[in-house]
Amino acid sequence: MAENNSSSLMEKVISLSKQRGFVFQSSEIYGGLKSAYDYGPLGVELKRNIMNEWWRSMVHEREDVIGIDASIIMHTKVWQASGHLAGFSDPLVDCLISKERFRADKAPRPQPKDELPIECADKGQAKTYVEAIQKRFNIELKRNGKTLYGMKVIDENTMGFFPDDSDKPTETFPYRGYVSPTFGSPFLSDERQFNLMFRSQIGPIDVLGDITAYVEKNKELDGKDLRTGIEGIVKKSAVYLRPETAQAMFVQFLNCQQSMSMKVPFGIAQMGKSFRNEVTVEHFIFRSCEFEQMEMEFFVEPGTQKEWLDYWRDRRMEWWQKLANDPSKFRYRAHEKDELAHYADACYDIEYEYPWGFDELEGVASRTDYDLKKHAEHSGAKLSYFDQQKQDPETGKNGWRYTPYVIEPAAGVTRGLLVYLLDAYHEETVPNADGEDSSRVVMKLHPRLAPIKVAVLPLVKKEGLPEIAREMVSGFFKAGINARYDEQHSIGKRYRRHDEAGTPYCITIDGQTTEDGTVTIRDRDTMEQERISKDEALQVVQKRLIES
Ligand code: ATP
Repeated sequence: MAENNSSSLMEKVISLSKQRGFVFQSSEIYGGLKSAYDYGPLGVELKRNIMNEWWRSMVHEREDVIGIDASIIMHTKVWQASGHLAGFSDPLVDCLISKERFRADKAPRPQPKDELPIECADKGQAKTYVEAIQKRFNIELKRNGKTLYGMKVIDENTMGFFPDDSDKPTETFPYRGYVSPTFGSPFLSDERQFNLMFRSQIGPIDVLGDITAYVEKNKELDGKDLRTGIEGIVKKSAVYLRPETAQAMFVQFLNCQQSMSMKVPFGIAQMGKSFRNEVTVEHFIFRSCEFEQMEMEFFVEPGTQKEWLDYWRDRRMEWWQKLANDPSKFRYRAHEKDELAHYADACYDIEYEYPWGFDELEGVASRTDYDLKKHAEHSGAKLSYFDQQKQDPETGKNGWRYTPYVIEPAAGVTRGLLVYLLDAYHEETVPNADGEDSSRVVMKLHPRLAPIKVAVLPLVKKEGLPEIAREMVSGFFKAGINARYDEQHSIGKRYRRHDEAGTPYCITIDGQTTEDGTVTIRDRDTMEQERISKDEALQVVQKRLIES
């Protein structure tokens, strides 16, 4: 079997995604919209299958979890209470030379004594940057091809210019502690906060008209005051697209608990779209501005959060691994104290080894009682739970009212889809019809995730074979199995096409079918073909899917 070259694996997956209809660039015919993607005929099925598997394991198969489907636009007070309006922002920095804008918290961090080479795209750019740095900072960096040398970290807060390998700097500058990710430039602007939530306006309000009138009336105001006034006008009708699905589960805690008579510990789950005006969009669908999440808030008794955190971390890890070919590519990583979100007392990231290294796939956070308390405070609602069976630890009396603690497994659907595409991609050398070596690409998607479960292929488009095939397809549909009738091109090409689509089973109808009622069933991974009775085909596929 040929090895996947990890550096080009991403390009191969992106190219196959387009060719086979998994993922397309959004608005491609207009030049594409950065960071927006459309899920094609196979992608939409794969995405739904991932979500259905999650829903089945998180909601249907559990007595202690219920689901909701909340609106994307919620009351603005939700985002004030949750802290998103004030705090859902990333520290942003611009490189003063290349103008690259990036997130400070994700930037590379060279340490004292490290050199700070600036890697330009080409020699021409390197020359331009040497001049720009000379003009702005009055130092002339040494150029070797497209790399600029001379800067070194002195200590946590200082960097220096060391011309011609000298030991002493001729100039020193403040050092931010990190450099720009693409060029490695240490010449950076101050950090600025930037809100990641998409804002819109609700209601029949002419915001631009109101702003124009305000500006006309207040011509004498300076820039800062004018901005404050305009912000006040915009805020009156502002609404936000949710940046996470989680908040609805806190806001609907009481309705869900009471309508379903749930007893703590219990969870509320939701899947759906979230939106973040991400500054750095990267790695295909890994980080995009519009994406889908699968989140669950699990409400527990205070003091039991640690054991529930470990419990959900393990369940979620098992789920990802069970549906993958290579479980060794998943790991979890505990957050350091300084990495924790302000509301969390512990957190694990479930990480996957992407072509660029290990990175986040899902976060499993212990969110304390922060969110319920904040919403109770801002709304006046009593978001607490009364346990008649327990003694109040403070008073010793029977019955305990408390604000539950929360464990949150929060996964990205679209990021999960990327993981399963990467995991599924295999290139193999296999014998062709003449017994010679030929290569095939096969998407070894878990049969439960595969967009098409079974392709039904009449060997020729005549002699009654299409009719038999179509009848079989409709039998599969009746049983809730996504099947596809396919008569285009030679049988060999059709097998290859369905290997690339990840279809686990191909059933071929041939001349013998009309004689003895048998068909062949071909397994995608082993390529073995077996003759089975046409009438048993549905049961065979059903059994294999259940056992997969
Ligand atoms: P990151 O550190 O990668 O920005 P995060 O810690 O902000 O992610 P969470 O808020 O914990 O992410 O969201 C839970 C999950 O939602 C993430 O683990 C990821 O799978 C997914 N997710 C978050 N942001 C994006 C995005 N911009 N595009 C695609 N998926 C995302």
